[in-house]
Amino acid sequence: MAYKYRIYPTGPQAEFLSGELREACSLYNAAKQERDDAWKTCRKSINYYDQANQLKAMRADGCLTLSNFSCCQDVLRRVDKTYQAFYARLKHGDKPGFPRYRSARRYDSITFPSYGDGCRLLDNGKLRVQGAGQIKVKLHRPVEGIVKTVTVKREAGRWFAILSVERDAAPLPASDRAIGIDVGLNSFAALSDGTEVPNPRYYRTAEGRFRCAQRKVARRRNKKSNRHRKAVRLLQRAHAHVRHQRADFQHKLSHQLVKKYGLIVVVDLNVKGLSGGMLAKSVHDAGWNSFIQKLSYKAECAGRVLVKVDPCGTSQTCVCGASVPKTLADRWHDCPACGLSAGRDVVSAQVILQRAGTRPSGANVGVIVPYVA
Ligand SMILES: [Zn+2]
Repeated sequence: MAYKYRIYPTGPQAEFLSGELREACSLYNAAKQERDDAWKTCRKSINYYDQANQLKAMRADGCLTLSNFSCCQDVLRRVDKTYQAFYARLKHGDKPGFPRYRSARRYDSITFPSYGDGCRLLDNGKLRVQGAGQIKVKLHRPVEGIVKTVTVKREAGRWFAILSVERDAAPLPASDRAIGIDVGLNSFAALSDGTEVPNPRYYRTAEGRFRCAQRKVARRRNKKSNRHRKAVRLLQRAHAHVRHQRADFQHKLSHQLVKKYGLIVVVDLNVKGLSGGMLAKSVHDAGWNSFIQKLSYKAECAGRVLVKVDPCGTSQTCVCGASVPKTLADRWHDCPACGLSAGRDVVSAQVILQRAGTRPSGANVGVIVPYVA
């Protein structure tokens, strides 16, 4: 679990932290370049340890001024991860993009991988960061559990500390209620109890503001001016606002579900080779995945069971097992066999719930993927 707190560095502290980010970014890019060069010139692949072994000498030479040693290691680990992910996807048969250089403007966080080494919370409620001193923190909620790592992050001109913690599960009283959830076609989600959760309209509402802010950026042609920088900041803030609203909505919804139900069944949109009918729903992918992520860790912490099932064909069958073919335009489900009449997404949510419990026989057997932490 991670806690995110706003921190308020003073002017010089913010200046220092920005410098650390720049330094981390150039280390990242240098490490990437070294890997690429070694491969191009002598077909040698360099791993994390090869690079980490050079850190000491680099710091002694003064060409690496990042204050904390473990922070440097973390940067190299990030590079390593990017390459590992790239090779894993190659192996998997995908066409991944080659790891890229990062721009200093977008490189916005450094991680202290072991708590207490270079960064820790003091008893006086401040965050001590190596080189920057004590930074004011807004601890809007207590930290529960053992802090493992701290990430200092810059977001649209604001600074945050993200504390990842390991904490014991806090199981909720057992519940024998179960619910199935499907991605809605026109709603965010449909529940098997008949509720449809509407899509939040944050983006729609903010569009006007985005356009206005975007025009302001475009009008200020001198990209190095303060006026341009301020306009960019305004645009970033507008986007951050919507991002926060969306996260808030997902946190609240997942919290409600976990509180109420002992068994939660969702569709797994990451199943390979989704049928054509699912394409229309893939527009939701990004939002859906982050929602499932929040649901997962909340369920795990509360001792709830979360099951992911194959979404294939859920909109084409009825809970009674009869096949009820529908096109994307059909909003309503009318079963000729059992007479069930309900919204299409609600019925598919019910089918999803069914797939987790009893394995139906026949053509539409769902692959049941139990949730693994
Ligand atoms: Zn039926």
